[in-house]
Amino acid sequence: MIFKFNLFRSALIIVSTLLVSCGGQSESTGVAGEAMQAQQTYEWKLVTTWPKNFPGLGEAPEKFADLVEEMSNGRMRIRVYGAGEIVPALEVFDAVSAGTSEMGHSAAYYWKGKAPEAQFFGAVPFGLNAEEMESWISFGGGQALWEEVYEPFNILPMLGGNTGVQMGGWFNKEINSLQDFQGLTMRIPGLGGEVIQRIGGVPVNLAAGDIYTSLQTGVIDATEFVGPLNDLALGFYDVADYYYFPGWHEAGSLQEFLFNKELFEALPRDLQVIMRTAASAVSAAMADEFRVQNSNALSTLINEHGVELREFPADLAAELYDVSQDIIDELGQSSEIGQRILASYRAFEAQIKDYQDISEEAYIRVRAEQR
Ligand code: CA
Repeated sequence: MIFKFNLFRSALIIVSTLLVSCGGQSESTGVAGEAMQAQQTYEWKLVTTWPKNFPGLGEAPEKFADLVEEMSNGRMRIRVYGAGEIVPALEVFDAVSAGTSEMGHSAAYYWKGKAPEAQFFGAVPFGLNAEEMESWISFGGGQALWEEVYEPFNILPMLGGNTGVQMGGWFNKEINSLQDFQGLTMRIPGLGGEVIQRIGGVPVNLAAGDIYTSLQTGVIDATEFVGPLNDLALGFYDVADYYYFPGWHEAGSLQEFLFNKELFEALPRDLQVIMRTAASAVSAAMADEFRVQNSNALSTLINEHGVELREFPADLAAELYDVSQDIIDELGQSSEIGQRILASYRAFEAQIKDYQDISEEAYIRVRAEQR
């Protein structure tokens, strides 16, 4: 659908180019113009929310830039900047919106202050897992809604990877009931943070580079971040006692490539296709790589750093589930587009449930019983 739309738009651009050149110029000028455009080189900036070359998350945009440069034979060069190098971690969206950076790599829930509905495209507590989330975006109507949310900001989003199910977080006390969250200051962004707030905790949003010191100095009592790979890299095992699972609040967190929409659409058609293809390839690989790297990092955390794992008790999980459903429904009802996103999300959940129950979920349950 998008492909057809773009083809139609490309045709319009060619027609209007020809119309503009009607003043005594021949059609060959247009062709020459296109040939010139085909040789033009571009240098773009890509800003990220991650420390430079941060495992997994920060490597994805670097791989993207390398792929694009190679696929375009050097016509598109993209320089990747880590958080704070030219733009603070949580100002990536603004920089891409304004076009001061042509591209970004981040996660949608960081922009809830600008567009609350963006949170549906990051992670939904007890919501779709990684594979389901990407199916909804790519084949269940999610992409068009995501584009609509970012349209007023002149930003075009694309899938930028997925962390898979995250960990539940790092705590300095055991968590046995909702009461244990009372007054607890926890770094947890997005809808998960709203759940924590609803049950009496104090959610804060901190970029990766600021979490360790905040936990060490007691500015926060607890934190979640991603999973073993990234959490090991940030050294949380030094400043917290218990590592909880599962990450009920982020079952399949999408990462995103952000493009300044106007600048992207002004690119020659083939470069646009190269960018889309590279984004898609890098995105698809991230969860696969995380699975391997998280397994290795978990073993390091336990065996070399003596980290103690804890599972959230089942009755607590049930209570968190109920609060999560309220928060999701309230977000969906808060705006007209929110209503349409919620309807699409819920319809997709319902559509796949019966099949998931007897395929993936049945298999995982049966396999676990044999081990
Ligand atoms: Ca997280």
